[in-house]
Amino acid sequence: SDEKALNFIEEIVENDLNSGKYETLVTRFPPEPNGYLHIGHAKAICLNFGLTQKYGGYTNLRFDDTNPVTEKTEYVNSQQEDIKWLGFNWKNELYASDYFDELYAFAVKLIEKGLAYVDESSADEIAALKGTPTEPGQDSPYRNRSIEENLNLFTKMKAGEFADGAYILRAKIDMASTNMLMRDPIIYRIKHAEHHRTGNKWCIYPMYDFAHGQSDSIENITHSICTLEYVSHRELYDWFIEKLEIFPSKQYEFARLNLTSTVMSKRKLLQLVNENLVTGWDDPRMPTISGLRRRGFTPKSIREFCERIGIAKRENLIELSLLEFCIREDLNKAANRVMAVLDPIKLIITNYEKGTEDLIGENNPEAEDGGGTRVIPFSNELWIEREDFMEVPAKKWFRLAPGAMVRLKFAYIVKCEDFVKDENGNVTEIHCSYIPESKSGNDTSGINVKGTIHWVNAQHAKTAEIRLYDRLFTSETPDAEEGDFKDYLNPESLTILPNAFIEPALADADLESRYQFIRKGYFCLDRDSTDDKLVFNRTVTLKDTFKK
Ligand code: ATP
Ligand code: MG
Ligand code: MG
Repeated sequence: SDEKALNFIEEIVENDLNSGKYETLVTRFPPEPNGYLHIGHAKAICLNFGLTQKYGGYTNLRFDDTNPVTEKTEYVNSQQEDIKWLGFNWKNELYASDYFDELYAFAVKLIEKGLAYVDESSADEIAALKGTPTEPGQDSPYRNRSIEENLNLFTKMKAGEFADGAYILRAKIDMASTNMLMRDPIIYRIKHAEHHRTGNKWCIYPMYDFAHGQSDSIENITHSICTLEYVSHRELYDWFIEKLEIFPSKQYEFARLNLTSTVMSKRKLLQLVNENLVTGWDDPRMPTISGLRRRGFTPKSIREFCERIGIAKRENLIELSLLEFCIREDLNKAANRVMAVLDPIKLIITNYEKGTEDLIGENNPEAEDGGGTRVIPFSNELWIEREDFMEVPAKKWFRLAPGAMVRLKFAYIVKCEDFVKDENGNVTEIHCSYIPESKSGNDTSGINVKGTIHWVNAQHAKTAEIRLYDRLFTSETPDAEEGDFKDYLNPESLTILPNAFIEPALADADLESRYQFIRKGYFCLDRDSTDDKLVFNRTVTLKDTFKK
């Protein structure tokens, strides 16, 4: 809303629009198609698209695909799907690889201006002359080749006459700069590799710094927003634009999102996928947008999360529980309340002789439209949660125990009269009597009970597999731990309950449906479901169990 304080990037944008520096705001979201997008990307997406939603102008989607080895069309497609799912539309779908001809021409222009040269030093030799942050570097022996010789060699590089690594093109800037990136950075390298879009047309590829700013400029991006790691790149970004005399895009940096108990680099997430430590990019434990979607997160909850964390200039660490708070808030209003018994034990009502009775359940008292009601079948054989019965009750136990009374949600008060054990001593059946006058909504029994438990009618129940999730890592900061981040994977991040019972209304669930399983959390159908076996994911528990 208007009353909310502007973040520092909005301030810059407002100033630039008010002063007339730019007429139209143009931003871009520039993912490299080398993996699936994650919640950190969602923050950048919300920021870039959010700015042009608020101030007009438009946002481009530009695939930053200048590294042929890591990039795939599968990733391009998933990234598009995820941005659309989050609720954003780009103006133009663009590829840095579409600019390879222009970028090549820019490189030639720098050579012609005496501002770039072909170097044939080895990587070690280049490193040896680079200097240190406190000591200047030294000039390469190839730094003063003639413009003609440079043009000739660069043409041969492009023509495929040399092997990988034999030659590189470097910008000729300042080997004594206090900014190491300004010490004659590499701008083109030879790589005989097939590119996901340009195939084998090219065997030289521009480095990130030579591609990114120029791509921004080609697209007339006014505000090129990136994360803080690129602060030191800004000088180089400006240098290329100035020397090439092209549209002056400007780079601004904000703090990347870091989340507790989460790793967020695509490279690390790819390791989890490749080493089968998760079931795929959309494993519901993954911080990817596709993983969150499969887990049951809504686009709205993710946008709300990005709004709440704001845009900072300094690195920080956000609690995973804030993301969970946002989905709980959304689902509290949006999800129907239903009954599912995750770890079932049989309850038999010995004095109930009415056959099957249709009870009425409220769908969602928190819904804006009241939520409506549904029919829930009830009879003398039910499933209840094993954990709702204690043979020897603890203090302040208000659920079932020998002789104790409890209310069955939407139904009657029952009293535990007896129970049956198998030869191993496990309770297999609980026998109760019910109070006919205690029907919910019409209770004249005068009996007060403190506990209410959920149940499912055995005859009508559907079976389901339930998947419960916990944090993927045991460490709050797996990236910062000693050794490999994978040593800190939580072995209990997934619990499968194969024999749950759900109320019959849930047979209609589709992948968009969201439910609150009463007392158990928010759940959604998983795409592994078949006609014979429904599978539900727990999106989040009802209460915050993560905080100590
Ligand atoms: P990763 O290492 O996770 O793949 P990246 O920055 O290399 O991250 P890109 O595909 O280049 O991934 O990112 C596209 C955009 O998303 C960039 O502008 C980048 O700044 C932004 N971005 C990436 N990670 C985060 C994050 N954790 N928080 C905020 N923005 C991010
Ligand atoms: Mg990147
Ligand atoms: Mg990366």
